[in-house]
Amino acid sequence: MTSQCLFCRIAAGEIPSTEVYSNNNVYAFRDINPAAPQHILVIPRKHLHSLNDASPDNQALLGELLLTARHVADQQGFADDGYRVVINTGEHGGQTVFHIHVHVLSGRHLSWPPG
Ligand code: 5GP
Ligand code: ZN
Repeated sequence: MTSQCLFCRIAAGEIPSTEVYSNNNVYAFRDINPAAPQHILVIPRKHLHSLNDASPDNQALLGELLLTARHVADQQGFADDGYRVVINTGEHGGQTVFHIHVHVLSGRHLSWPPG
């Protein structure tokens, strides 16, 4: 828990959010500014700045983030229609919150390539 970090505070329940799924390792909640009808963020409870800071020690956790994305897609009923999973990393990747997070987007046809 990094006390200055927005997503650490959200995972700890210090800042309100709309929970979608939670366990001891990960927390999933609705994005405050959705870019699609379904826009869920999946974060580890443990602070990790970005994908650039991930190491082999984090292998299981990174896998759990992806499996949680898949789980919430099932749970929310959009797995069959399809969805997009995104990890923005660093400045050029468009990362604005420096606690690693997986975006899960669905509910409309998503264009490609991204802007
Ligand atoms: P990034 O741009 O770093 O990939 O994504 C950060 C995401 O966090 C954005 O989609 C933004 O809307 C979302 N976000 C920022 N602050 C909050 C907040 O306080 N609550 C929630 N639920 N989402 C937030
Ligand atoms: Zn954090």
